Amino acid sequence: MATGTLNIDLDAIAANWRALDRLSASGVQTAAVVKADAYGLGTTRVVRALAQAGARRFFVAAAEEGAAVRQALGPGPQISVLSGHMAGDTEMIHDLELTPMLNSLEQITRHLEALPGHPFGLQLDTGMNRLGLEPMEWEAVAPYILEADPELLMSHLACADEPDHPMNEAQLAVFEDMTGGTGLPRSFAATGGILLGPRYHFDLTRPGIGLYGGRPFETGNPVVSLSLPIIQTREVAPGETVGYSAAWEAEAPSVIATLAAGYADGLPRTLSNAAMLWDGATPCPLVGRVSMDMVTVDISHLPEIPRALDILGPHQSVDDLADAAGTIGYELLTVLGRRYTRRYLEHGA
Ligand SMILES: *Cc1c(COP(=O)(O)O)cnc(C)c1O
Repeated sequence: MATGTLNIDLDAIAANWRALDRLSASGVQTAAVVKADAYGLGTTRVVRALAQAGARRFFVAAAEEGAAVRQALGPGPQISVLSGHMAGDTEMIHDLELTPMLNSLEQITRHLEALPGHPFGLQLDTGMNRLGLEPMEWEAVAPYILEADPELLMSHLACADEPDHPMNEAQLAVFEDMTGGTGLPRSFAATGGILLGPRYHFDLTRPGIGLYGGRPFETGNPVVSLSLPIIQTREVAPGETVGYSAAWEAEAPSVIATLAAGYADGLPRTLSNAAMLWDGATPCPLVGRVSMDMVTVDISHLPEIPRALDILGPHQSVDDLADAAGTIGYELLTVLGRRYTRRYLEHGA
């Protein structure tokens, strides 16, 4: 095996969806967020596993991603597009029965003119200042838009991963204020919002990262493991250095393994001299710089030279590795390399 092996546990994704579905208050629908190629893990396989687990509604960032979900699932499941109705997307939205979450007066006008009667939802800005109608705008146009019968009113929390952050309650109050009394289905919570409790759940929750084994859903099942093959090993004498910029120097006679993955495979350069790889339960420090296609690892203490080392697995989660790199699990997942051999685990197979 010349490249790393990325194992993606579809049963774990399904189990995480069911667990988040149970956490959502009763009568609340649980959707699944599968933007960015299902957080880097592969849209087609992931959405099929989620549909089998019971998910009936999917959220993507862009219409093209919605097309991939429709192709994988066929007619039936509802596919919502968070970027709304962008210029040039009309045909795809119509033909593939996508539901745009409209973000601005411009998008609302475009949608109602181009596809009258075609289902849409609305995103409302409750304080994140990223997408959606502002409270003042909404107040001005709500009577007119409500006549066109939006199927969902939604907003997004900026700080849901920090339960005590005052933004959570502040945004909740704004959302209640903007949507109360409309009688329309409402959605407010992603993974973090689900964990904030039932006041945040409304009619539909939208978990993403929790499905894929990431924080803040700490009790979720791990989904990915990644094993990197050793290309070559060498003995390095005290005073010799390893890799670009001679960024690591041996203090004792050392055995250094060169492994087949680098920053082009989504291993951030900030892991240079700052991460562990694992031979079973034995940690082995990454030494020197992360190169484009390689990393170097000190395996001096191993009794035998293994064929591969794990960089994600039972001893190091996506979030552990993200911490070492100074980033977040979301980013590590979505930049996972295209060169890895991907193995999907399903139903014990
Ligand atoms: C990405 C996203 C989600 C999912 O968020 P997670 O934190 O991954 O659960 C939900 N809603 C919107 C609007 C998003 O952009």
